Amino acid sequence: MNGADNTIVILGGGLAGSTLAKQLIMMYPNLDIKILEFNSYPVPLAKFKVGESTVDMAGHYLRNVLQLEAHLEQEQLPKYGLRFFLPDGDNTDITTRVEVGNGQRPVSKSYQLDRGKFENFMHATLLEQGVDFIDSAKVVNIAINESSHRVTYVKDSGSEHTIEARWVLDASGGARLLQKTLNLEAVHTKSHHSAWFRVAGKVEINDLSTDPQWLARVPEVARQLCTNHLIGKGYWVWIIPLSGDNTSIGVVVDPEYHDVEQLKTLESTHAWLSQHEPQLAALLQAKQFEVMDYKAMGNFTYRCESLFSPNRWALTGICGSFTDPFYSPGTDFIAIANTLICKLVGEDLAGNDLKAPCMASEQMYFAGYDSLISTVENQYGIFAHNLATSCKLLWDGTLAWSGAGLMFCNDRFTDAKIAMEVSDELMLMSKLHTTMQQVFRRWSTSIPDRELRKDIIVDQLDNFGQRAQRALVQDYSDEALVAQVKQNFNTLCTLAVAMFKLVEDKPVTDSEVALLVSGYRHEPEVETELNNLLFNH
Ligand SMILES: Cc1cc2nc3c(=O)[nH]c(=O)nc-3n(C[C@H](O)[C@H](O)[C@H](O)COP(=O)(O)OP(=O)(O)OC[C@H]3O[C@@H](n4cnc5c(N)ncnc54)[C@H](O)[C@@H]3O)c2cc1C
Repeated sequence: MNGADNTIVILGGGLAGSTLAKQLIMMYPNLDIKILEFNSYPVPLAKFKVGESTVDMAGHYLRNVLQLEAHLEQEQLPKYGLRFFLPDGDNTDITTRVEVGNGQRPVSKSYQLDRGKFENFMHATLLEQGVDFIDSAKVVNIAINESSHRVTYVKDSGSEHTIEARWVLDASGGARLLQKTLNLEAVHTKSHHSAWFRVAGKVEINDLSTDPQWLARVPEVARQLCTNHLIGKGYWVWIIPLSGDNTSIGVVVDPEYHDVEQLKTLESTHAWLSQHEPQLAALLQAKQFEVMDYKAMGNFTYRCESLFSPNRWALTGICGSFTDPFYSPGTDFIAIANTLICKLVGEDLAGNDLKAPCMASEQMYFAGYDSLISTVENQYGIFAHNLATSCKLLWDGTLAWSGAGLMFCNDRFTDAKIAMEVSDELMLMSKLHTTMQQVFRRWSTSIPDRELRKDIIVDQLDNFGQRAQRALVQDYSDEALVAQVKQNFNTLCTLAVAMFKLVEDKPVTDSEVALLVSGYRHEPEVETELNNLLFNH
């Protein structure tokens, strides 16, 4: 390939576009990769973009696949997992709220990203590595053709330029350039609503109490460097520490339970916090932090009808799809889309037809997307119910590490042979997951809540979730990986059965999941571990 045939143009140099360029240049150093980005560099720190919390797949992708470990460990913050404080009464005492989270930094590493710092670093790195990163450049026209595509952009100086390229890869975020240009159908499902702001200063969850026992329960660093979630009926609030001692705070609500008008301004968001999370509101008031920015957004749950085309265009990042910020999955999906796109570019370089690989890529991507939609859609109502929520948190975490997550972290996500061998387990896992989401919802309205232990510190004792997460960082042979996915499915079946027994005291044969778990091999330790985690029995 040469000339336009060798050129790939990426629209947008944010998180999705810059990481895609890095992955492409690492895999195919002879390509001519151009990024067109509207912003000028350097971009501002801290108060730049939303999307700061990463989880396991994203951590693996950024650290190992893109080899950004030095930047992440030295310039960003190491992350101590996700932590949840469940509601109790009027939420005026953090020590009486059930706490679900880690005591240590998980072995599978992830990070809290200052997005401005990250994107400045990526800009400099990509330029060094030979990517033609054109900033202050607004894409104004895209023509997709059979042979080569044409992208026109205008520089801030007013000069207009056109690039011919074999591939156009859209990473334009909310601008959704290709979706609009090609009139692709935008599929919207029920969306939550969010408002967020950044403050200059450290918001420490440990400042919410002086109770020595509560403070000593978890190392201070674990509470400070995780993503803290304060949750209640129909909402959650994030507290994300950023390097440079800044903090990102956001509220996400289900409009079914909360009037989104209440999140329309910074002042009204503070008033909302005073009502629902009075301790955090009082802390912010007392500390008088400088508020660096404020933004609100709704209607963000969206997917484009098509993401990967045999006509050599593709979408990555939120221009193609976004589910919900709960569990911070945004960068995981960027990692998946980018990995699939790189594989498609490789097929094209090898002269292979792209129809079947594009179709397979969409199936894989949307299987994950649909699974995550079932995790969040109509699920915020559960958060009032401590028992159903704790079961959901333990279940969702374990599920995330059991199938596609394990394959991705073992760099086998696009391995067709392995995918074939575990296709039954992945399909059943997905069905079991969707069914369990309905079960959690049912429990939250029909089963009386129960007193739980307050400290569900998930890594204090070995348990099913920890084993699944630890497996993410093990190196498996193909056979061992297949065996591990099958084992994980069995563990999930056991977990479902154990949850039914604990919550409903009901044999699984009478439950919604009976058919899905039929033939599973019971792992008694899973039941004991669940009991320990929830009730300390
Ligand atoms: C409330 C909320 C909370 C979230 N929290 C998280 C989280 O904690 N963790 C997480 O991983 N994800 C989170 N996300 C998702 C997060 O936003 C994405 O993961 C990430 O920011 C998407 O990156 P992107 O590259 O797709 O978009 P962006 O980072 O927005 O990049 C798009 C780029 O395209 C450029 N552009 C647009 N139009 C043009 C044009 N015409 N010409 C040239 N350039 C153009 C823009 O300037 C921009 O830089 C959250 C999303 C929401 C809505």
